[in-house]
Amino acid sequence: MILVVNSGSSSIKFKLFAIKKNVPIAILDGLAERIGVDGFLKIEFNGEKHQFNQKMSNHNEAIQFILKQFEELKVIKDKKDIAAVGFRIVHGGKITEPVVIDKKVFKEIEACVKLAPLHNPGALVAIEAFKIEMPKVKLIASFDTSFHQTMDEETFLYSVPYEWYKKYQVRKFGFHGISYKYITEKYAKMIKKPVGKLNLIICHLGSGASVACVKNGKSIDTTMGFTPLAGLMMGTRSGDIDPSIIQYMVKALNKDVFEITSILNKESGLKGFSEISSDMREIIAEVEKGNKHAVLTLNKYSQNVADFIVKYANRLEGKIDALIFTAGIGENSDTVRKEIINRVNILGLKLNPKENIKRYDDFLKISNKDSKFDIYAIKTNEELMICQETMDLTS
Ligand code: ADP
Repeated sequence: MILVVNSGSSSIKFKLFAIKKNVPIAILDGLAERIGVDGFLKIEFNGEKHQFNQKMSNHNEAIQFILKQFEELKVIKDKKDIAAVGFRIVHGGKITEPVVIDKKVFKEIEACVKLAPLHNPGALVAIEAFKIEMPKVKLIASFDTSFHQTMDEETFLYSVPYEWYKKYQVRKFGFHGISYKYITEKYAKMIKKPVGKLNLIICHLGSGASVACVKNGKSIDTTMGFTPLAGLMMGTRSGDIDPSIIQYMVKALNKDVFEITSILNKESGLKGFSEISSDMREIIAEVEKGNKHAVLTLNKYSQNVADFIVKYANRLEGKIDALIFTAGIGENSDTVRKEIINRVNILGLKLNPKENIKRYDDFLKISNKDSKFDIYAIKTNEELMICQETMDLTS
């Protein structure tokens, strides 16, 4: 079995995969939260939901308790049944591939803490806790940044003093790479074309959102930047703004730069702009009631994505296999997909409105035959991607 872990500073999301004839099958998933506060664990196994109020003072205690529940629920006989643990790590700096976590890799992830102070520390404490709990088990790291390490300098450098890059690593990294890799490989399998021959524009629209431009199977550009704050309007993040707004609002609100940056991360985007919710479902519900500001929010969101699609189509010189929508909004909202496609005016896209509203399990083709290129909604599966990467490095 392989355990996939996505750990934050006070939570651990996990999914357990059984490997049958080299094929991973998800058998259990769960979430430990409020670690260090009080502690709450949810596990879903065999269609049943289990909940535990359990004090978990730190990640070690959380992991001990999670593994104990695996045994009590008879998912595993003992810890030895878990052959490897794969970690989702947001920032891997210049690491281009998934890796076995040894001392050197651990140090590299540690070195990335200054680049991703909100994300990497949670992963590091979880890795340390697993090292103590399961010292013999191989630990693997998959990074959200790796997929974008193929961007060229012209794309990943900012027009700031070059020294900021040389001395302080100020550059575009890009994120959601695990999802983009999954979608690229999935699409290659779906249409039976080698990954290396695929040109795709992929819109990962979840609570965090970005678009990636994939040429010959490799990322050549993406909308997120040095941090996940850049690019599109998101659930609570602003996306691109004029950086001068920060100093202006520092003065206007009498707050410091950190507080304003926190507002840009947590109180902006759909939530701050709509004054309704960070959840697109609630905004669409208001649109349906005729709320004009909700309509403005949806229009702004859709135009923003459409503009990047056109930009990336230009980067691909119009040679595009497919436009793909994924993640919470991209997978589920026919309304948002329609609004975005309606705003892509110069690429000859033709949406099939009947297909667009259909329910589906895995993927859905939503373009008409006369569309210049295909449009799909595909369900992403980051945990499965991490599991596969973990298998590749442990078998
Ligand atoms: P995360 O980045 O947290 O993994 P997800 O990819 O799960 O996010 O996306 C979560 C978001 O997807 C929700 O905040 C919600 O706005 C949106 N979403 C989910 N289902 C729908 C739907 N049917 N219509 C519109 N938006 C949806």
